[in-house]
Amino acid sequence: MSGASIGQPLRLTDISPVAMQQMDVWGIDPGVTDIFVASNSSDPRAYLSPADLPGEPLLATPPNPRHQIRRFSSAEYYVKAGYRKTVANIKAWKQQHGITEIESSFGSPKTTVRQNITAYITEKLRHLDRLLLFYGQDIQQLRFLNYRGAQLVNHDLVKIFVDGGRKYGSHASNYNSHDTYMSRLNEDGSFKSRRRQHAHPSPLQPRQCQNQNQQKKKLTSFLFSETRNGKWRPLPFQPSTQIPLLCIGDGRFGRRRFNKKPLGLANRFKKVVRLAQRQFPILMVDADEAFSSKVCSKCGKKTLANVTVDGGESKLHAVQCCETCSTVWQRDCNASRNIHALSHFAALGVKPLVFTPQDQDQADPSTTSPPDAQPNQPTPT
Ligand SMILES: [Zn+2]
Repeated sequence: MSGASIGQPLRLTDISPVAMQQMDVWGIDPGVTDIFVASNSSDPRAYLSPADLPGEPLLATPPNPRHQIRRFSSAEYYVKAGYRKTVANIKAWKQQHGITEIESSFGSPKTTVRQNITAYITEKLRHLDRLLLFYGQDIQQLRFLNYRGAQLVNHDLVKIFVDGGRKYGSHASNYNSHDTYMSRLNEDGSFKSRRRQHAHPSPLQPRQCQNQNQQKKKLTSFLFSETRNGKWRPLPFQPSTQIPLLCIGDGRFGRRRFNKKPLGLANRFKKVVRLAQRQFPILMVDADEAFSSKVCSKCGKKTLANVTVDGGESKLHAVQCCETCSTVWQRDCNASRNIHALSHFAALGVKPLVFTPQDQDQADPSTTSPPDAQPNQPTPT
């Protein structure tokens, strides 16, 4: 692992299976709506029959079927970095200083008529001093706020994998003072109920929920069981002392756009992690993500289809249903679980057949991850 020289990106084959077992491995699916969706567990038995599965401790079945999911959306990024606020401020300032009025008086420079271009230049030169003052001086302090906000959120993106960051690790008393944290606990160490107590409980409220002790028991059983009311929930945040190894799906990098949207933030995330490797104990590798959004990570079959609504008229891109085991998946969660499994297999030099174009399900090998390659089949919802 330390053998990788400076300038050479780390590869999965550089990490020995024994070392990988000591790490906190995350399968990460980068994207547009969500900058990343990360998952820290998968079941290798799903993809290979027991006879084909190498007897490596690295490929052992996880003790808990539940796993953690960490995600960060693009919208979250812009709001937390303060971009929305700054853009609104800039707009207000433009109104206030009469810049909006000046700019709306210009014609368009995108014209082939020579007089129009001349008029545009003349008009712009006439207001040049005012515009230079506004864009060169007034607005710069707001632009600096954007820069500062982005730096803070970039830091947070990495911290999510180091100690949970502000988003996941706030209970770890990193950001909450110890007193605030303790004030939320009962004497027996359980969390205080923050729900308002009604003197006359609503008749619509289920009876068992009126009893606080029972409610707490339910919460405890929920935290340690796979399902609540038959619905899967991710495992709550758990701090780890192991070095995080981020296996980032590589399929969408190298393209500038995906689904006509720029991939800027996913690329930025990768850049930020690369820089953070100098500061935090954190490792990043590229992981093969071919077919990761086609294969069901529970049964390992290439039988995922988009869930349809309105009698099959509209297709939900983010929701997939497996036709073999009927599991309903959030697309990116399933992909991140597959990437997690694929990176474990890659460290051992194995690749399950289902992730190759040679699989009996004839999939077009040139389209590994674009969603439109998915045949639209009606599925049980
Ligand atoms: Zn399945």
